[in-house]
Amino acid sequence: MTNQYKRILLKVSGEALAGEKGAGFDEVAMRAICEGIREAHTLGTQIGVVVGGGNFWRGRSSGEMERTCADKIGMLATIMNALAVADQLEQLGVPTQVQTSLVMPQVAPVFTRNDAVRAMEEGKVVLFGGGTGCPFFSTDTASALRAIETGCDIMFKATMVDGVYDKDPKKHPDAVRYEKLTFSEVLEKKLAVMDGTAATLCRDNKLPILVFDLAQPRNIACAARGEAVGTLVYEES
Ligand code: UDP
Repeated sequence: MTNQYKRILLKVSGEALAGEKGAGFDEVAMRAICEGIREAHTLGTQIGVVVGGGNFWRGRSSGEMERTCADKIGMLATIMNALAVADQLEQLGVPTQVQTSLVMPQVAPVFTRNDAVRAMEEGKVVLFGGGTGCPFFSTDTASALRAIETGCDIMFKATMVDGVYDKDPKKHPDAVRYEKLTFSEVLEKKLAVMDGTAATLCRDNKLPILVFDLAQPRNIACAARGEAVGTLVYEES
């Protein structure tokens, strides 16, 4: 089977890289995720990736620290993750390019839309480090932004649950998973898909999102083939 989408943006939470360890990098978990990305890449899908930073640090849960300082640390954590995932992908034979929103030439080139698109067209998986480069934003918002800027067809939000539910499935055994829903419903019902800034950006720019479980890394390729996994969030035109 071939790919359904020409270009995708994959958002992976930092937590997913921590695997069983719960923090930092777990080599087994990282390898499994990267093998999932490689499978989607072999379909010919152009891929951009945003990795969160929650396996190291989150600005919003940093206690007494001044928020913009805490968020800078969070953004640096996402760059560490982008470098680590790129390294693992290269070891698996997948060409990559890391781009950052913060200027640090010794580490990686700064993000530009044209360079990112060119690299993806050349078959490189592009890792966007540093979030949006601004405090008070999340890597979900950065993912939506980079997906829209680089003309991705869809954003894959790979999480720890297999889709979007009407209530928390961990607390409510009768929770029901949606197959499809609109961003307006997500915002109205305050469903925990992503933060409001990210959801609004997707809605206003009609960027669909597929939410699925990363515990099965093969889901990345299944989703790239257009198979029914997870929950599709979209906006009616
Ligand atoms: N962050 C930020 N601006 C951005 C993206 C991220 O300040 O545009 C910081 C923020 O402190 C955030 C942290 O980086 O808590 C890690 O990102 P996020 O919480 O989205 O990671 P995830 O929960 O997906 O692992």
